[in-house]
Amino acid sequence: MKVHEYQAKALLAEFGIPVPKGRVTTTPAEAREIASELGGKVVIKAQVYAGGRGKAGGIKTAETPEEVERVAAQILGTRLVTHQTTPEGVPVSKVLVEKAVEIKRELYLSIIVDSSNRLPVMMTSEAGGMDIEEIARISPEKILKAHIDPAIGFRAFQGRKLAYGMNLTPDQIRPATNLMANLYRLFQAKDCSLAEVNPLVVTAEGELLALDAKLDFDDNALFRHNDIQQLHDLEQEDPLEVKASESGIKNYIKLDGNIGCMVNGAGLAMAVMDLVSQAGGRPANFLDTGTVNDAGRIVNAFKVFTTDPNVKAILVNIFGGMTRVDVIAQGIVAAHKQMDIQLPLVVRLAGTNVEEGKRILAESGIKYIEGTDFYDAAHKAVAAARGSIKTTQGGKN
Ligand code: GDP
Ligand code: MN
Repeated sequence: MKVHEYQAKALLAEFGIPVPKGRVTTTPAEAREIASELGGKVVIKAQVYAGGRGKAGGIKTAETPEEVERVAAQILGTRLVTHQTTPEGVPVSKVLVEKAVEIKRELYLSIIVDSSNRLPVMMTSEAGGMDIEEIARISPEKILKAHIDPAIGFRAFQGRKLAYGMNLTPDQIRPATNLMANLYRLFQAKDCSLAEVNPLVVTAEGELLALDAKLDFDDNALFRHNDIQQLHDLEQEDPLEVKASESGIKNYIKLDGNIGCMVNGAGLAMAVMDLVSQAGGRPANFLDTGTVNDAGRIVNAFKVFTTDPNVKAILVNIFGGMTRVDVIAQGIVAAHKQMDIQLPLVVRLAGTNVEEGKRILAESGIKYIEGTDFYDAAHKAVAAARGSIKTTQGGKN
């Protein structure tokens, strides 16, 4: 789960990391007030769940409170499109108004979980301000890394090594080391999957300051961080993904293809996506129903598909273990009874109570195409999306 920059900065400050003075607001009038309080030049920053705002016009500076009000009015209520968003962009409902900082150097600092080493890794670079992917591509040697053993914690010597590596001056080494240690404390205490400060700046006065902040939290640990859960801004998420999660669907990620896939189990779902691609099609989503014990969840999954205008065919691939195939079949039938679904439907069922499941579908009167196996189903779904095969009652074609 992501949070906004202003929320991330509040957490950073709580853990002793210096951040610029400022406040968030939803109105131009209040933006003007904040600017008056801060005095002097300020920066107005669009609050969205996406980076790359600087280049996309989401970060502006202003000299006077009047100008701040005008700029805030221009940004608020728009949608910001950055290289990290969809072409539709994300809505800007809040701006962060901060005292402008005179920047001497822009550095990079982050912590992520390195899955190949199964450890958190702290990364720093002298080339801050730009995307880390870009630094990694142009000058990978400029990225320094220190793996952190969670049982031992982040050590001061690691901090010194990274700090000297960024060519900080001797009097900046200790503040930098403390800042890194504090970021790791935050990362661990809040179960982050990412903590990124880009840029971490050296000001004209020689002080270190987190000018931007991005935190991502491990969804599987959110149950123990009620404070973090409360910060979730659903407006920033894909509406279909929000709908899916509210409907009890375990995992739904919207993609850009036209075959809606409904599968139980993440591994099977990934395999289905591979097969659909191999058959020449493109999945419209990744969807893991989880273990299904009530038909209602399947109805909800169909509601999600049918709202996606890109979907041209639906592929259901279920391997029932704990999930009962007959319950799935009841869900498919119920969805078609409740909604007017005209999309071609390809169904491949296997596992627990499969005979009963197939009987329910065959006798339901709904039109579908039966996939005899996994491979057959993927190919039929691709053909159905192109309109080259038709559905029939009873599933035979
Ligand atoms: P991002 O583009 O979404 O990552 O937004 P950032 O918060 O990182 O801002 C992008 C860039 O704007 C930074 O790298 C800085 O160069 C510039 N910037 C942001 N705040 C200030 C500020 O207070 N003073 C100055 N001079 N530049 C700033
Ligand atoms: Mn940034």
